[in-house]
Amino acid sequence: MRASAALLAALVLGTAAGHAEVAVLPVVEIAPGVFMHNGVHEEASAANEDAIANIGFIVGDDAVAVIDPGGSFAEGAALRNAIRARTDRPIRYVILTHVHPDHIFGASAFRDDHSDFIGHAKLPGALAQRGDYYLRRLDSALGNAARGTEIVPPTMLVGDSLDLDLGNRHLTVRAHGPAHTDNDLTIFDQKTRTFWLSDLLFVDRIPVIDGSLVGWLDQLSDLIGLPAERAVPGHGPVSVPWPAGAAPERRYLEAVLHDTRAAINSGIGIANAHREVAKSERGKWLLFDDYHPRNVTAAYKELEWE
Ligand SMILES: [Zn+2]
Repeated sequence: MRASAALLAALVLGTAAGHAEVAVLPVVEIAPGVFMHNGVHEEASAANEDAIANIGFIVGDDAVAVIDPGGSFAEGAALRNAIRARTDRPIRYVILTHVHPDHIFGASAFRDDHSDFIGHAKLPGALAQRGDYYLRRLDSALGNAARGTEIVPPTMLVGDSLDLDLGNRHLTVRAHGPAHTDNDLTIFDQKTRTFWLSDLLFVDRIPVIDGSLVGWLDQLSDLIGLPAERAVPGHGPVSVPWPAGAAPERRYLEAVLHDTRAAINSGIGIANAHREVAKSERGKWLLFDDYHPRNVTAAYKELEWE
């Protein structure tokens, strides 16, 4: 099985024109035993193999935990190669931080490791609702480079929190209420006090509201009190200071909240609200025009009946 998976990986990577070099995903060690790959600030494409999110892994004395296997089978296989280039310890856990495909569609590359796939208690429902659509969209964006990508449902669900022991290294996995999505997990590495927020934290790239704007701000108020040495955003640099690294995101979300309420109160319709909301944020974020209008639409729907 492993040989055939490796062969398939080689074929997939070989057919992605000009990208055979990603067979081993580049990673940097941001803290002892914490390895990160920096996603590009682009939409998914054949050229980037949907490697657009920050993903990585943490190595303990006995085992490895992957935190987000990446956006396609090809990226997951390249991440797995990066792990195997550094350690032969078993990959015991693959943590799926939330339903978005750029984070979890690489999971099928870890099937032969017999890892536990860990997800939020609401992840199975979200995958049932959107998984097939996401797969079709990936196929049309990536073509051949999407080959081998499958939905892997979680085998271990987190309703509140979960402690994982990697051997002389404990990770706390926490399930959150609706924020970026309704199925967000964060991970805290006790050993290095690295706080892995995945898409609860966007830096440089505009945040995407796909759960609850009010909920996200509530979560942030709570999380900024956590005594972390560094934070890992789902998009942006692979490591930022905490809680300072959350300040721009909080400012953006607060502006959307304040201005969307004002737009609703002054009778501006949902279709035009994005032109008036958080204008001061334009120019401060990558992909602003791609996501800001839909963020305002989501905020409007959430706030209009409050
Ligand atoms: Zn996301």
